[in-house]
Amino acid sequence: MKRPLELYIHIPFCVRKCLYCDFLSQPASEMARHAYVEQLLEEIERESRFCQDYSVVSVFLGGGTPSVLAAEDIRAILCMVRRCFCLESDAEITIETNPGTANLEKLKAFLDCGINRISLGLQSADNRELKLLGRIHTFEDFLKTYQRVRVAGFSNVNVDLMSSLPGQTLASWKSTLRQVVMLRPEHISAYSLMIEEGTPFYGKYHDHPEMLPSEEEDRAMYYAARQILEEHGLKRYEISNYALPGRECRHNVGYWTGVEYLGLGLGASSYLHGFRFRNEADLEAYRKIDMKADDADLRLHQDITELSEKDRMEEFMFLGLRMTRGVSGSEFLRRFGQNMWNVYGKVLPGLQENKLIEVESPFIRLTDFGIDISNYVLSEFLFDR
Ligand code: SF4
Repeated sequence: MKRPLELYIHIPFCVRKCLYCDFLSQPASEMARHAYVEQLLEEIERESRFCQDYSVVSVFLGGGTPSVLAAEDIRAILCMVRRCFCLESDAEITIETNPGTANLEKLKAFLDCGINRISLGLQSADNRELKLLGRIHTFEDFLKTYQRVRVAGFSNVNVDLMSSLPGQTLASWKSTLRQVVMLRPEHISAYSLMIEEGTPFYGKYHDHPEMLPSEEEDRAMYYAARQILEEHGLKRYEISNYALPGRECRHNVGYWTGVEYLGLGLGASSYLHGFRFRNEADLEAYRKIDMKADDADLRLHQDITELSEKDRMEEFMFLGLRMTRGVSGSEFLRRFGQNMWNVYGKVLPGLQENKLIEVESPFIRLTDFGIDISNYVLSEFLFDR
């Protein structure tokens, strides 16, 4: 029987760089974007040769802004995936789309080539906050795109939101949430802003945390999101992700539960055959790789690490506990042949006593208090702290 595999395909292009963004993305000409796709197609063909005993359960076109590509380029990518991989007939196929980068014709073309889930980057319904983030769109632009997505025929839509923005208040965050839930998306991701090194926001806010919402305000925003989204049937299933029943993002759930994944394209990360590695992250260097050469992998794949059993146990706990259902002791025993309570005998009782985790055999999961300080709780599962 074939093993499940997820594909992540990175498109490193955006109309303009947002001020908080440290993702691998940049503006590029139409010609440069098309040349990248040509190289990507060759990579897909090449890498598929090493994945013939896998069956692809999800494809995620992420970025960047994949929707800046021409519809024909997206079609070519998915045709190549179909031709080279065994793609399950009900595979979840997602494309990240930003408001203002896809007209109705393009969205219909996405649907036509098999994409069945759209992830829309909104972040805020407040135009002042959007401007401050350096986003290319207004809330009104988002509304137009959202409507087009529905008219095109998509019935599985995620909206990305962001809290703890400079100058954001609890009231403006609640207003964003309320305006978005009224549109009835099937899924919402709601993350707090992170100030990342190397971004304009880092220079502006790293030494001035007083210009950002406080930790208490951040937690209040988190609880407001949970309350408002759950009131509208969007159930939290991971620390920052909410979905209508059955609409959880299969690609992300696979990632949190240890399904293997192959990253294709610039800088994409993979976890395959027990190894973790990432692709060349320099665009020029990536484009110069001869994908037909025998040694292409040596130039393409970097930071190759074989995961030890301890690494895999850590990841099982670290990622699995992000899910509200938690991790299963039975599954731990099946995968590692050891009892979770023995392996983590020094950690679990203390976390339970301090009400950071709760136990509902065979599952353990984070409590609300545990989620509030999840960075600390999850780090307890690393063996070499
Ligand atoms: S649209 Fe997304 S990937 Fe592109 S610059 Fe903005 S945050 Fe980064």
